[in-house]
Amino acid sequence: MKSNELFERAKGLMPGGVSSPVRAIQPYPFYVAGAEGAYLKTVDGERLIDCCLGYGPLILGHAPDAVRAAIEAQLADGWLYGTPCPGEVALAERIAADHPSIDMVRFVSSGSEATMAAIRLARAATGRQDIVKIEGGFHGAHDAVLVKAGSGATTMGVPDSAGVVADLVAHTRQVAYNDLEGLDALLSSSEDIAALIIEPVMGNVGPVLPEPGYLQEVRALTLDYDVLLIFDEVITGYRLGIGGAQVRYGVTPDLTTLGKIIGGGLPIGAFGGRRDLMAMVAPQGPVYQAGTFSGNPLTMAAGNAALGWLHENPGIYARLDAGTRRIEEACAGAGGSFVRLGSMFKYFFRPAAPTNYAEAKESDTAAFRQFWEKMLKKGIFVPPSQFETNFLSAAHTDEIIEHIADAYSTCLSE
Ligand SMILES: *Cc1c(COP(=O)(O)O)cnc(C)c1O
Repeated sequence: MKSNELFERAKGLMPGGVSSPVRAIQPYPFYVAGAEGAYLKTVDGERLIDCCLGYGPLILGHAPDAVRAAIEAQLADGWLYGTPCPGEVALAERIAADHPSIDMVRFVSSGSEATMAAIRLARAATGRQDIVKIEGGFHGAHDAVLVKAGSGATTMGVPDSAGVVADLVAHTRQVAYNDLEGLDALLSSSEDIAALIIEPVMGNVGPVLPEPGYLQEVRALTLDYDVLLIFDEVITGYRLGIGGAQVRYGVTPDLTTLGKIIGGGLPIGAFGGRRDLMAMVAPQGPVYQAGTFSGNPLTMAAGNAALGWLHENPGIYARLDAGTRRIEEACAGAGGSFVRLGSMFKYFFRPAAPTNYAEAKESDTAAFRQFWEKMLKKGIFVPPSQFETNFLSAAHTDEIIEHIADAYSTCLSE
């Protein structure tokens, strides 16, 4: 069955015809029948180079041997026990060893769950109710973080979704990324702020990069005001290197949320941090958190295999960094701005690289849409939004990267 026929069936069965909003490409999304390495194979018989990569988890590419073997081995032993399993101990050890800020960790099944629980923990630990998030920062699809961005640095939260209790998001305050003065003003304005939750590198607007010294100063300010710092590294964890953005920039948060890569491509989330904070999580402490699929042996096997591979092949980070540099070169002179960090990259239809959400929103989304279609015709799938980060994976060979660079150059000059 073809993609358009499948979407016709899906539309009456699932809202928007999809299982997650960004997938609802118009007039219809392509349906994928298989994936291997850097490629997706559609039900319509096309083969596409994938620069979306599941929106971040697939740093080894699709169905890599190392992870596949671990999943297959686990399958023979069952995939859900409802009891502790050895794999969760190994993955927790790995994550704690890789992150100086993490003494203890709790596994969950999605990044959304991780941020929800980390915020609850921060409120419990401080006895305060408000949180600060960064405008345009994405932390999943739960109520406290679904707050409209762009309405002024220190305005009270306005729900970004129908059905969210206004009284709840009134406790979510916002400030622009890279705005230290705004953050200082906000933190000094209230005694009731429990935590700042921030993507150290904004992955869901671009990427948008921290200005030199910004993250260090964010840490200093949160310490000054005795506010907990939560790094949401669901995208950046193991993407920007072993230990994520916090190791790369040398900044130690109080709590960290992880997801995506740490599950080797299977559903996962995790939150972790200082022992005194994590000791407050049930059953050790009073902050309730639980999940049927948390720490399941199949995800743990995939996660251990993926992180193990990254440890054995640390050169991958430099190779992928060179890859995005090559694509950047191909975009030179096209009039927009190319932003990259390691294997994260994006071409913004805006002359200068955005430094925050409001600036990113000035991009020419109609031009992006045309570009996106041209790229697809050239056999390259980049995320269907100006505001989603593109990725490279270990399966993207130099030859494939050259192909992507050529396509950028051609599609941008047309
Ligand atoms: C993807 C993402 C989430 C949500 O993770 P899910 O697994 O989709 O729930 C949270 N925070 C950041 C920074 C993300 O990129």
